[in-house]
Amino acid sequence: MASSILTDKIFKMKKFVLNKKLEENSMENKKRIVTGDRPTGRLHIGHYFGSLKKRVELQNSGEYEQYILIADVQALTDNFNNPEKVRKNVRELAIDYLSCGIDPEKTTIYIQSMIPEVAELTVYYSNLVTIARLQRNPTVKTEIAQKRDLFGESVTYGFLGYPVSQAADITALQGELIPVGEDQLPLIEQCREIVRKFNSIYGEVLKEPKEVLSKEKRIKGLDGNEKMGKSLGNAIYLSDSDEEISKKVMSALTDPSRIKKDDKGNPDVCMVSYYHKLFTNEADQKTVCDECRAGARGCVACKKQLIKNICDELKPIKEKRAYYETHPEIVENILQEGTKKAQESAKEVMKKVKEAMMLNYFDKN
Ligand code: SF4
Repeated sequence: MASSILTDKIFKMKKFVLNKKLEENSMENKKRIVTGDRPTGRLHIGHYFGSLKKRVELQNSGEYEQYILIADVQALTDNFNNPEKVRKNVRELAIDYLSCGIDPEKTTIYIQSMIPEVAELTVYYSNLVTIARLQRNPTVKTEIAQKRDLFGESVTYGFLGYPVSQAADITALQGELIPVGEDQLPLIEQCREIVRKFNSIYGEVLKEPKEVLSKEKRIKGLDGNEKMGKSLGNAIYLSDSDEEISKKVMSALTDPSRIKKDDKGNPDVCMVSYYHKLFTNEADQKTVCDECRAGARGCVACKKQLIKNICDELKPIKEKRAYYETHPEIVENILQEGTKKAQESAKEVMKKVKEAMMLNYFDKN
């Protein structure tokens, strides 16, 4: 009897080791995706269509190993005087991810500031980028202009340098594929430049990342602004109540030339029609456009149909959110485990970087 229990235990142990090896081998063959967001506020439907849906799709394809970083250090570049806001939103962001279908069994979620190697790499990389190159980066240029328009602020050294720390984020995790919107492409190009420069000086250590362009381009705001943004006040948040969604859609920009219900309209200039393309099935979308052009559709009815479709799509997301909000210990555990895993990866990269840069003074070999 005792020997059969022992045999069973040995068999289980061997099976565990074999499964672990298979898991490790299959991970080695998978390309690694690194992506993330700044924890500066709740996520909105621009994030949902622009990046989150794609992340869930990539995660579930089984072809990739995905890491999502909660970029609290980057958030501090323009929120350095409001650390409470950043700290609070770290958990909010994690809840948004989990609610939208990010599965911690398949995707690693981690906190940027808990990876000290990123800060160290940022220092080393800062020698490889000129100030002029950073100032020419189109993404940085646009963001600086927006900041000036909104707040009239001048730009800090930390803000100007965030593409460098982003390159550190990507390379510390050996990221190979980076899902981005079109506006983020210059940041990936800047990262590639840093990697090439590093490798040409110190040897082939870092991996060059490639972008994965989101099929959905940047989602416009309710007011027709090219960007849906927290600071622009034109966003529908994933956590908005049905009443909030209704109020926002009712105030969305429609064809301004339509005065009466039977006036012929132009859905191409209407934000309600624009959102129907995201939330409404193809046949109904066509009806929206045809009836609008023929003057056979009232804007209020058109908005009500959209409100229903948005609320239906966001319902399961909000239900999951309610669960995680009442189980903060689960969220905490997911963040801790994910961060531990990311730390291990960053340590490996740092070791190679230090060897290449001859900074490994006390290493034995
Ligand atoms: Fe927009 Fe619909 Fe009104 Fe046409 S009918 S202008 S698509 S809200």
